[in-house]
Amino acid sequence: MTFRHSLSTARWLAALAAGAGLCVCASAWALNVDQLAEPDRRTLEAILQDLEPVIKPKQQDGSAVLLSWDKLYAPLNQDQRAFLDAFRKLRGASLGATSHYFGEAGDSADLVPVGSETVLKDGVVTPLDPQYLPRPVFEASSRMMEAMTEELGRRLLVESGYRAPAYQLYLFLFYLPKHGYSIKETNRFVALPGHSEHGYPPGQAIDFINEAGINGEDHPEVFEALPEYEWLQAHAREFGFVLSYPRNNPQGTAFEPWHWHYEPPGQ
Ligand SMILES: [Zn+2]
Repeated sequence: MTFRHSLSTARWLAALAAGAGLCVCASAWALNVDQLAEPDRRTLEAILQDLEPVIKPKQQDGSAVLLSWDKLYAPLNQDQRAFLDAFRKLRGASLGATSHYFGEAGDSADLVPVGSETVLKDGVVTPLDPQYLPRPVFEASSRMMEAMTEELGRRLLVESGYRAPAYQLYLFLFYLPKHGYSIKETNRFVALPGHSEHGYPPGQAIDFINEAGINGEDHPEVFEALPEYEWLQAHAREFGFVLSYPRNNPQGTAFEPWHWHYEPPGQ
């Protein structure tokens, strides 16, 4: 009787999971985090091939950052889905990284488009990729930039806002072959899903860029020297924004003067 009961429960769970686009797998996929085994590399290559027609158009129209788990899993078979599930179970801390696990809270966030923005770099007007932010973060950031413009006559733009954990996983998989199929090595450059402040709406991160296209990516000290950065240091806290990775931060992450996360007062 107990067996019958557990069997039907398992079936019910499997049906539920299938409806939600998830996979209930008989056994967890064992990943070699130092270097993927040959069969796993083939699985990965097949997944990247199957996903390309889904992801490419979304990258082109700027909607890839909103990718849902359902859309990511849809073109894949059971085995491929189990492979993805194994990556979602990985934690940076167990890979020798200091990255924090925030979770996959993104799917239910009320995301709003930032609107079209352009930078004027070396006399050329360049549009930024479309970005999205959780509504309270967008509103706080807009208020902050109004104040900055009023006091400084300059403002910052959103170069990177929300990035769905499903798209974060795709990016991780995409860069894996370029880092010798090593999960540990890839993790030094690309966050695992659930490990990025860009995919965590309650503490949403924004990467700022100034109107002249300076984002500090190659030379953080150039961004650090901007009056806009000095203004942020003096006033961002009033609007609920905190610098995530100052110099010599305890997480051991590189100094990122452009990366600020939302942390409203009292939180
Ligand atoms: Zn960032």
